[in-house]
Parts: sequence; structure tokens; C-alpha cells
Amino acid sequence: MKTAKIYQYQLPMDSGVILREQRLQQRDGLVIELSDGIHTARGEVAPLPEFSQETLEQAREDLISLTQSWLNNEELDLDSNCPSVAFGFSMALLELEKQLPQEGNYQAAPLCSGDPDDLVVKLNEMSGKKIAKIKVGLYEPIRDGMVVNMFLELISDLSLRLDANRGWTTKKAEQFANYVHPQFRSRIEFLEEPCTTPEESLAFSKATNIAIAWDETVRDDGFTVETQEGVTAIVIKPTLVGSVEKCISLIEQAHQLGMQAVISSSIESSLALTQLARLAAWKTPETIPGLDTIDLFKMQLDTSWPNCDLPVAQLADLEVIWEN
Ligand SMILES: [Mg+2]
Repeated sequence: MKTAKIYQYQLPMDSGVILREQRLQQRDGLVIELSDGIHTARGEVAPLPEFSQETLEQAREDLISLTQSWLNNEELDLDSNCPSVAFGFSMALLELEKQLPQEGNYQAAPLCSGDPDDLVVKLNEMSGKKIAKIKVGLYEPIRDGMVVNMFLELISDLSLRLDANRGWTTKKAEQFANYVHPQFRSRIEFLEEPCTTPEESLAFSKATNIAIAWDETVRDDGFTVETQEGVTAIVIKPTLVGSVEKCISLIEQAHQLGMQAVISSSIESSLALTQLARLAAWKTPETIPGLDTIDLFKMQLDTSWPNCDLPVAQLADLEVIWEN
């Protein structure tokens, strides 16, 4: 007999977590637990404030009605629900059907900030290609350009992933590029969303030979994966995109066109984060995912992230808000 339970969690965050305009002091989310009478499986539904279109209340309503349909053996249209619900529920179903392989990709591309010596140590611990990342667009573009140049000059086998979060005007993006030595540009694996609009970003890439990636654009209405000059990757944040099936379809389309797909976090708890690491190992084995967000929390949930010392909250200690 099928049964289901929905838990609600609040997890304390590290004091420095700022999402666009607001400080995130705690992360709120839901856990859906499905049982078919023999196996039990879980998924996490956690809309991210400032990024998700839906609120937690809307997600809760969607999740309850979807779960009811599942219990009634009705046909499910997962992606007609809000993305966080489609993602969490599809993940629980995948786990229930034992379709998600256990092995995970827990590698992270370390962040370049501060001391280059620290970075060298972290990079030496990496197996395979050395890839680090830098957030750009927060300070003067000239400064960003100098930092990128410096790291590429200093570490000769390093590649970089950069992310500007649509932060630059065409002029600022150009100022940045002017500081990056032309011979180093091919070692920028990609720069995510340099300019305010995709059209400006494409023009930037064409003019500078710096490869770009889509992140925000993947969630724009009507987005389709297509070959575009200069675009080498798409970033997929499942909580913001939808069901695992929808994410896998985007990944497969990207791979068919010779592009990378980078599975990335929307600051899910360790429960969903470890599932995303398993999805990454399964579907994007050649690519380092963007899942190094566990340190933003003060506590984990249910499943530990490997080598993470944060205390782990148990589901049994959470409030059950719905059960059937
Ligand atoms: Mg991004």
C-alpha cells in the first residue's frame, strides 16, 4: 500500500549568506517521503527566495495535491507543478524506483579569492583538470580582469569558470576583456552571463573570443538548447528548472550539440545536494558540478555531504505537516 509524508524543515545558515537583496538567515523547505509498502524514498522541495517564482506556501499546496494524485494512482504531469515541486517529487520517485545510481560526484571547482597560495594547495588536491572559479561583476571590471589574468599567468595549467550574473553593461564587459591577455582567453572555460541581455553576451563573446555559458537564460520563457557561436555550456539548477526528466532532457540536448551541462545547486540542504551529486555523476560524468554550497549552512539534513563536519538534523525530529 502506498503512503506519503511531508516534513517541513528550517535550517540555520551561516551569517554571511546574502541572496541578491536579502540576508538568508535560515533555509526553509519541505521533504516529501513516498513509500510503496516495501521501499521508502525522499525528495526535497525548497523554493529559493529571490530566485524561485513560487513561495514555500504555493509549493506546499502543489506538493500536497500532487502527492494525493500519486496516492490515488492518477497519471502525473510533474512539470505542470511549480519547478521546486516537480524536482523534489521526481527525485523521490526516481529513488523509489531505484533509478538514481548511488555514486556521486562531490568534486568542486575551488573559488579564487584572496591568497593564490591557498588556491594552489586546493588545486593540487584535485584529480584531473585544474578548474577554479571566480565571481566577477561585483567590483570594477578592470580589477576583475586583472585578477583573472594574474591567476592564469601564475598557474599555467589552470582553467577558469567565471560568473557575472548578467552584471555588466557592454562597456564594462569590454573593459574586463581588455585586461585579459588574448593568449589566456581560451583558458576561460566559460563566463556565465556577462551582460544584461543574452544578445549582448553573444556579441561580447564574438568580439573577445571568450566562451560564455547560459544560467539565468536557461530559465527564461521559451529557452531552447541550440548551437550559438561562443556558447559552450548551460548551467542547470534543478530546483528552479523542474523535474529530473526535464533536466536530463536539457543535459542530453546540450551534449548532442557538443556543449557542457553543469548541474548546480539552488542552496538545497544536504539531502537534495547529495542527490544532485549523484545525478551529476550519472548524467554529466565529465563535468565538475556547481554543488559546493554545503558550507553556507550551519546544519545538514538527513544525509551527510562527504567530509562535511556540520551536525546532521534527522527527519524524525522535523514537523510532519501532512500524512496519508
Ligand atoms: Mg550563474
